[in-house]
Amino acid sequence: MTSFENLPVSPESLSSASARSIHTAMISCVVPAYNEHDNLDLLLPRLETVLARLGANWEVIVVDDGSRDATPLLMAGWIRRPGFRYVQLSRNFGKEPAITAGLEAAQGDAVIILDADLQHPPDLLPTMVSRWQAGIDMVYAVRENRDDESLGKRWGTRLFYSLLSDSRGVHVPPHAGDFRLMDRAVVDALLQLPERNRFMKGLYAWVGFQTESIAYMPATRQHGESHFNAFKLLKLALAGLTAFTTWPLRAVSLIGFAISFCSFAYGLYIICEYLMFRNPVNGWPTIVTILLFFSGINLISLGIVGEYVARIFDEVKGRPLYVVRQATGRAFEHQVAQSDRSD
Ligand code: UDP
Ligand code: MG
Repeated sequence: MTSFENLPVSPESLSSASARSIHTAMISCVVPAYNEHDNLDLLLPRLETVLARLGANWEVIVVDDGSRDATPLLMAGWIRRPGFRYVQLSRNFGKEPAITAGLEAAQGDAVIILDADLQHPPDLLPTMVSRWQAGIDMVYAVRENRDDESLGKRWGTRLFYSLLSDSRGVHVPPHAGDFRLMDRAVVDALLQLPERNRFMKGLYAWVGFQTESIAYMPATRQHGESHFNAFKLLKLALAGLTAFTTWPLRAVSLIGFAISFCSFAYGLYIICEYLMFRNPVNGWPTIVTILLFFSGINLISLGIVGEYVARIFDEVKGRPLYVVRQATGRAFEHQVAQSDRSD
């Protein structure tokens, strides 16, 4: 039975569009960062300028995903200023757990996720916030094009989204990433999802709500290199497919049926050929080829089933998604800032 007390959308929030006053609201920015010292050094002052202009209470939460560079040192300086918070994870857990840690720490009425490498332009934040004030629950940025990417990555992405398209009624918009603003109700709904395999792009789509896209063109990375090489992208694609589709399992059974049918037909053909033309059954090469072919199919099928079993294994263990080493800093609130000045 559904407990209505636990539902993330309260009756009052149905009129949230009119309640979204920027002056009383808290805007949170969640920035997952892994070895991004040089980029954070550029991003944080820019975020401060943009957020201060909004006239809202605000906080920037840098989630340090086990950085080994000077990020902790840099953040030790920033957290002295109101508005900056620092959540340090105990090791590198990956971008998706880092985002979840940030969402759990965020106090905002609206939460914005953006990368630390300045590929997600902070100048887009005021537009996102104004759409949220107009009543949109989730405003996500969509790449205008992928001309800046290699041909291989573009084809891979296209293939991935077409394979994902049958994800049980959930439409995952292609070309949209983690750069987005979410209302508190959306964040609460996301945090209610207990799964460990957090393919965030799928989860954003799964929770629903009123969404709107805005077009943008990612800037080039300011310092360092992307953390996602071809192998990691493939791993992420597999995580997405196993979390949101079951058609590969069905495909295995269908392939099994098709092959059984073909081998039955071929068997019939050999018998007929022998009866009609008395052809001796000679077929050493045929047998070896067929044997190897079916061994391949068997292993592929086992691998596909194994991928799903591995996900079940991860979920059943029930380990926490991440471990926090330390969390410091505080949000910028107008009233607190004024009392700070009068002290
Ligand atoms: N990131 C992270 N943990 C990781 C890998 C990446 O927190 O294990 C962060 C990274 O610091 C950056 C964001 O995720 O702020 C996006 O990473 P990146 O720029 O490498 O990915 P790309 O833009 O190439 O997709
Ligand atoms: Mg990047």
